[in-house]
Amino acid sequence: MKMKMKHCSAALCFAFALLSSAEICADTVECDVVVVGGGTAGVVATIQSARCGAKTILIEAGSQLGGNATVGGVNSPELFSLWGKQRIAGIGWEWCTKTAELDDKQLPGSRKHFRINPPLYACIAEELCLKAGAELRYFESPMSVKKNGNAGNAGNWILTTAAMGETRTIRCKELVDCTGNGTLCALAGAERMREKEIMAGSFNYVIKHEVSLKKLGKDELQRRYEEALKEGRLIEGDARHGIESSMYYQAGNYIYDADNSTAALRTQTNIRGRQSALRMLRFIRSLPGGENAMITSMFPEVGVRETWRVKGEYVVTVDDYLAGKTWEDSICYACYQIDMHKPLWKDFVRIHLKEGVLPTVPLRALIPLGVDHLMVAGRCISSDRLAMSALRIQATCMGTGQAAGAAAALAAKHATTPLKVDLAELKTLLKRNDAIVP
Ligand SMILES: Cc1cc2nc3c(=O)[nH]c(=O)nc-3n(C[C@H](O)[C@H](O)[C@H](O)COP(=O)(O)OP(=O)(O)OC[C@H]3O[C@@H](n4cnc5c(N)ncnc54)[C@H](O)[C@@H]3O)c2cc1C
Repeated sequence: MKMKMKHCSAALCFAFALLSSAEICADTVECDVVVVGGGTAGVVATIQSARCGAKTILIEAGSQLGGNATVGGVNSPELFSLWGKQRIAGIGWEWCTKTAELDDKQLPGSRKHFRINPPLYACIAEELCLKAGAELRYFESPMSVKKNGNAGNAGNWILTTAAMGETRTIRCKELVDCTGNGTLCALAGAERMREKEIMAGSFNYVIKHEVSLKKLGKDELQRRYEEALKEGRLIEGDARHGIESSMYYQAGNYIYDADNSTAALRTQTNIRGRQSALRMLRFIRSLPGGENAMITSMFPEVGVRETWRVKGEYVVTVDDYLAGKTWEDSICYACYQIDMHKPLWKDFVRIHLKEGVLPTVPLRALIPLGVDHLMVAGRCISSDRLAMSALRIQATCMGTGQAAGAAAALAAKHATTPLKVDLAELKTLLKRNDAIVP
């Protein structure tokens, strides 16, 4: 049961020496675990934490769950298997299976690539979180987070959030950052890492048109495309695989420097995504047969591949990844290749795993360096950039989300830190929840 502390006593306020009384007395809610960010990692972390019996609140800045997978239209939570065997399962797999069942589709098996129905996936995520007993808070975002005096070995955070004109306060034991950007970790004083270059994002939309390639001819289409580029009616990235792919196979674009780690950057990124769609619509309308072209669907946000990574107790390197290193505290597998997008599509860095190599993720990569009672899961876990280009994939985000949810719940239960939770107990708990632990 969440306890409201509307009228806290003077003695209690005195005990919270690090904070002003105003900060903790205003309608404070208590819980065990707060997860920030309701994307792939955050959904799984929330369900796992709540299923462990921890009072769990999920805070999401947007209007629905799923993050990149639903709002960005990246509806391919694949890569659960490697070398002929399923390596990632648990709550993420349950989420996919339940969605596919309701979509009247058999999940094609963990070894194959598959697509998921994004709206249904968001609804099922919500249902699973609520059934697990978690509280969901949309349209809310952390403003500050502070350690709240000495609570022995237990975590004792005061998280202040902005919720559409309201300031809200939560007192909790453990925090899990699933923002994809390490935003909560930065607020809590943890170090983040990024390089000057980041991978481009992509914007998912569909333009229906009746331009016949046969009638227009490939060479003429290419000539008009190059002319449009020269005149600035289209820009590099609007048709990332070339104009034919973009027009006939909806094969995507690049939104360079796409960054959603602050409201200002997220605004600009999404404006640039929609401008790209408009440029393409106008270009297609300028072609014979394209006069009635129309944008018929568009996902709400640009999919962002990379921003910040959190510096953790261990930084997974590309060498660790490619060697399939396993540590005592490995908590999940990762099944993807190194896949670094470069500004020019053809410059991709792709390094395939050698036959039999099974990369893993240690718990320490989910624990920000030097900050207790805080975890990170999803695409911004502690790794070098090349390792991140593989770890960012959704199935791995599910694996790290489930481990973070379990470790945070255990730390809250035993009044310890995620770094000090009993590894055997953590692994047993994960296996009981159908996760595959290395
Ligand atoms: C174009 C593109 C194609 C891709 N293709 C594939 C693919 O084919 N297969 C695959 O498996 N992966 C793919 N990926 C990678 C994968 O989709 C992402 O890396 C993964 O979804 C990230 O999950 P996440 O939970 O870490 O973050 P996200 O899904 O980004 O979720 C973060 C959530 O946190 C919320 N949030 C952020 N900041 C705050 C805040 N301050 N307060 C509150 N909430 C906040 C966001 O609104 C969001 O809901 C692709 C990515 C992109 C961009």
